[in-house]
Amino acid sequence: MIYFIGAGPGDPELITVKGAKLIKEADIIVYAGSLVNPEVLREAGPDCEIYNSATMDLDETTEVMVNGIKENKKVVRVHTGDPAIYGAIQEQMYRLDKEGIPYKVIPGVSSFCGASAALKRELTVPDKAQTVILTRMEGRTPVPEREKLAKLAAHQSTMVIFLSVGMLDEVVNELSQHYPSTTPVAVVYKATWPEEKKVIGQLDNIAQLTKDAGITKTALIMVGDFLREDRDEESLLYASHFSSEFRQAKDDKKCD
Ligand code: SAH
Repeated sequence: MIYFIGAGPGDPELITVKGAKLIKEADIIVYAGSLVNPEVLREAGPDCEIYNSATMDLDETTEVMVNGIKENKKVVRVHTGDPAIYGAIQEQMYRLDKEGIPYKVIPGVSSFCGASAALKRELTVPDKAQTVILTRMEGRTPVPEREKLAKLAAHQSTMVIFLSVGMLDEVVNELSQHYPSTTPVAVVYKATWPEEKKVIGQLDNIAQLTKDAGITKTALIMVGDFLREDRDEESLLYASHFSSEFRQAKDDKKCD
């Protein structure tokens, strides 16, 4: 069995209990060295073989993992955040399927959750947004035409943009086709790492503020009214007049 595990956004205490246990027990670890905090691996055993996948191609990482399994070793593949978000695990799992090798995926705390926590904001605020779009700007990896930023911007929902801070001017151009120029935007660099930085502005000044802060990579762009200062809306969930399966409303009016 090969385990794909999410390492979390950076803080080594933000890995799951299951993920931490597997790192402790691993004979072979292949980790995404460009983004995974090496501190996450500090509980690995003294005899564990550790490979940094940043310097390897898919053939090489597959070979290490498959050979490990054939030698009856416990193999752990560590990805940053949650492996299902831009983790490139699909192609690895496909190769393992072809070899008939079983695997499991252990989820992790994605960086967008780490960044929301750093900002101390809820992404789904009543009356502001009830939808979160996780996306990226097209880079060397193409993005389907129907998912172009300018098209997604039409929803004016909460948007979290990965892998794109180096193209912030283009991002702002695309978003400006629908979001007003005063829409709040936050750029969060290395959320939950000791060197975390947060830049908060609006669509028409975020590019300059981010340049001034010297942020060019490993950051998320978070867009939308969820960042606004007026924060007096309350959700129905805890409202005193709202009955649910678990709680009877105080004024006894049944809502759903
Ligand atoms: N699987 C990861 C994403 C990998 S793609 C996850 O779930 O978070 C890599 C991109 O994720 C980076 O370019 C950056 O946009 C974002 N990212 C990863 N870790 C981050 C962090 N700690 N703070 C801010 N952005 C981060």
